[in-house]
Parts: sequence; structure tokens; C-alpha cells
Amino acid sequence: MKEYDVVIIGAGTAGLTARKEVEKKTQNYIVVDDGPLGTTCARVGCMPSKVLIQAANDYHRRFSLEQQGIHGSSKLSINLEETMDHVRSLRDRFVRGVESSMPAWSEKLVQKRAKFVDAHTLDIGGELVKAKKIIIATGSRPVIPGPWNEFKEHLITTDQFFELDKLPEKVAVIGLGVIGLEIGQALNRLGVDVLAAGLGRELGGVTEPELQDYIIETLSKEMPIYTNGANLKGINPEGKLIIEVDGNEFIVDKAIAAVGRRPNIDNIGLENLDLELNRGIPKFSSNSFFLEEANHIFLVGDVTGERSLLHEAADEGFIAGFNAVNPVNCFKHRPSLGITFSDPNIATIGQRHSNLIESKAEFVTGMVSFEGQGRSIVKLKEKGMLKLFACKNTGKILGAELFAPDGEHLAHLIAWGMAMNLTVEEMLTMPFYHPVIEEGLRTALRDARNHLENPSHMELFRCQDTPIR
Ligand SMILES: Cc1cc2nc3c(=O)[nH]c(=O)nc-3n(C[C@H](O)[C@H](O)[C@H](O)COP(=O)(O)OP(=O)(O)OC[C@H]3O[C@@H](n4cnc5c(N)ncnc54)[C@H](O)[C@@H]3O)c2cc1C
Repeated sequence: MKEYDVVIIGAGTAGLTARKEVEKKTQNYIVVDDGPLGTTCARVGCMPSKVLIQAANDYHRRFSLEQQGIHGSSKLSINLEETMDHVRSLRDRFVRGVESSMPAWSEKLVQKRAKFVDAHTLDIGGELVKAKKIIIATGSRPVIPGPWNEFKEHLITTDQFFELDKLPEKVAVIGLGVIGLEIGQALNRLGVDVLAAGLGRELGGVTEPELQDYIIETLSKEMPIYTNGANLKGINPEGKLIIEVDGNEFIVDKAIAAVGRRPNIDNIGLENLDLELNRGIPKFSSNSFFLEEANHIFLVGDVTGERSLLHEAADEGFIAGFNAVNPVNCFKHRPSLGITFSDPNIATIGQRHSNLIESKAEFVTGMVSFEGQGRSIVKLKEKGMLKLFACKNTGKILGAELFAPDGEHLAHLIAWGMAMNLTVEEMLTMPFYHPVIEEGLRTALRDARNHLENPSHMELFRCQDTPIR
């Protein structure tokens, strides 16, 4: 039986990042993947969804052009088949980018399914192999709730969506987390008749109540948004799907199921390892990523069921790869950062409002509205709100939730400030150009500062002051 130093299961973002660390120390490893290669992110995730959103937002611009004296936009039309071809063409380019690095280590890639036989033995497409260290990086898959299976013909998951040549005329998007919201708004802007139904008011993960209301109210002006869930009721005589939302029935051609993703851990033979499982997931160290009951096995990426984001999968893959071939190290997390590429962007950074309330943290909130904010007016994107949370006593930035023009960039600034452990007052010593969207962030920082216990209103260093760091 072959014996490897490391077997990595899954050639997605987490597995590929782990591989780079592993190969620095050993050539006696393999990467096993039985699925389509190219990563979830590039094939059916981050990248094709962003291409779709870009096309949708570009087309949507036609509604504000006349105001700027640019005429003729009413004659613009869209060919959705061509739009989907464009999405696939760029998607293929991103996939090629991932695959281009593979020939250099192709003899280490085994395109088969892996399953545990015992803690050190894997069945790889019928062949048993031994491994000293094993990294599970098997990702996740879209969930279709059991009772919905009878309507499968009418349901589209993100694994299928980007293959569509024709978009349905009327669609329900069920689930208003990041994925549902992004695809729902994009389809609506592309001219598809969209009914968006989620369960709960946490659109894009936002928990601050005033911001939640503002987001729902604003986005509802574009498409109907429901927050009390949806039931699939049946198929009508014309073969269309009947959906029940808030006690009313709606008829749609298809529904996009965006109600979450399930870790690919239920089908890898974990039952042969005698591990204690919590909702199917073995306990693992969230700083070193080994399993608590089998510390030669690592669990990283979406399969952990925790932070299902590309940059988290990459960080976790790095940590597992490093720890598999070095003495085990404990790694710190970067501040959490989640972005929904709706327009305006939604983002959550650091601690959420609900966590701060739950933990009874003593914090202040700084707020800015982007209605009336200089650069937002210029861009004709005068919608949005940002709430920034800071420790009442020290002024340290704890987190933020936002719905803002160019919010993806504001979110990074806040996260970077947090990574540097900056306080509200320290952030206010940074330069802000005029007129920029970032001035909105400054307004929120100033508002937060005004609520601090002992605020300093000095935004410039005097010559005798010691620089921050
Ligand atoms: C529509 C959509 C949009 C998204 N947008 C964003 C975004 O904008 N930003 C962001 O940060 N994240 C986004 N994500 C999330 C991001 O794509 C994932 O967090 C990330 O791709 C997870 O990487 P991974 O390595 O854990 O899994 P994957 O890339 O899915 O890799 C897992 C691999 O394991 C293989 N595998 C599974 N089981 C086995 C087995 N038993 N044997 C062998 N191989 C196996 C699979 O074939 C697969 O190749 C999005 C996701 C979706 C679906």
C-alpha cells in the first residue's frame, strides 16, 4: 500500500493553497479531487456572479443617463443569451487561470473520490493508501430542502445557474443571504421579473435594526422583497411553479434556491473514524485547523461550515498546509470581512451589532447617511447608510455594518484599520481627499468619536506629538 506524508482531499481554493505549503517541505503528497476542477469560486461562485452583476449594473445605468443629458438610453436593449455567453466566457478565463498552474504538479493530482477507511487509510477510487497527515478541503454544495425535491425540475441552484442559455421570464429567488441577494438584484436589473423571498431581515448578514429597515425599504423600490419565507405549493396546469409568500400565491417559471450550502463532509467516510460530531462536523481547532480527536487530520474551507468565503478558505488552507509539514502553529484570524455585491454594496466588518448587544459590550455607534453626501450626489448614487461600532472607553473600532456606494472599498478601510488595532481618533488622523465617498466614513468616525467617554477632537498631530506607531 502506498504511504504518503500528506493527502489533500479537494483541489478547491483551500486545498490548492494547502498544497503550496506542503510542497515546500515534501514531494511525497497527493491532491485528490473527483469533481470538475477550477474551484467553486471561479466555476460557479465569486467570479461568474460578479460578471453577471457587472452586466446588470451597466445596463441599469441607463435609468440615470438622461438626467446627465445623455440621450438615447431608452433605445438600449439587452440580449440575455449573449449576456450569459459573456458570463461563461469570462468564467472560463478564470477557470483557465486556476488550471494553468496544475500541469507543473499534475503527477500529484489524482482525479478520483476519497473516502476514509480509518484514521490513516483512505480509499481513493478503489485503491487504499496510507497518509501521515490528511487535509480535508472538500468544500460545500447548495442545499435543496427535502420537501422541495418534488419540484426539482423548477429549481435552479448556483451549480446550474451559470449554465443557463435562456433566463426565465419570471423567477423567485428564495433566500436573501449574500448569494440570493446578489443574483436576485442582478436578474431584476437585467429585466427578469423577480420575486425575492428570504426568511428574516438579515439581508447580506446585516444585524443592526435601523440599517436592516433601510436596506429592505431601499431594495424594495427595485423589486418585491419578502422576509417571512416562502413555500413551494405545486405546479399549475401551465407547468409553472406556485409559490406561497405571506399568505399569497405567486406563479413563477423557476425558483433559484439560495437557502444555504451544506459542507461536503457527509459522504467522505467520517463514520469510520469514531469522532464526536456536532451537526455532522468534527470538533476542530479554529486557529490551527486540526481535528481535536485526530490531530493529524485538518479541516479547512467551506467544509468547516463556518466562514464560507474565498479569503477565509485560502487562509485556512495555508494554515493546514503549513501545520501538516511543520511543528503545529496557532494562527490569528484577520478581522472578519463579508461583502454582498448588491448596489449599493452591503458589508459587515469585525463584530456584528447583534454580537455586541449579546455580549453586552460597552460600545458607541457612529453613523452616516449617504443621502446628501457630496460624492454620492455626483455619482447619482445617493443611497446608503453606514454604522460603525467602537469601544466606548478606548475608542477602538470593533466593527461596522454598511450599505453604501463603493461599500466594498469602505469595508476594506475599516477592516484594515481594525487589523492595525486603530481607534476612531487614530483613523481620523488619516488623510481624506475631497470629494470622495471615504468622507462619508469620516463623518461616521466623527459621530462615533462624539459619543466616546473622553473624546479628543484633534485630528492633526502637533509637531511635538508622538506618531501613532
Ligand atoms: C454563487 C456564489 C458566489 C460567491 N461569491 C463569493 C464572493 O464574492 N466572495 C467570496 O469570498 N466568496 C464567495 N463565494 C464563496 C466561495 O466561493 C467559497 O467560500 C470558496 O470557493 C470555498 O473554497 P473551498 O476550497 O472550501 O471549496 P471548493 O472550491 O468547493 O473545493 C472543494 C473541492 O473538493 C472536491 N471534493 C469534494 N468532495 C470530495 C471527495 N470526497 N473526494 C475528492 N474530492 C472532493 C470538489 O470536487 C471541489 O473541487 C461564493 C460562492 C457561491 C456559490
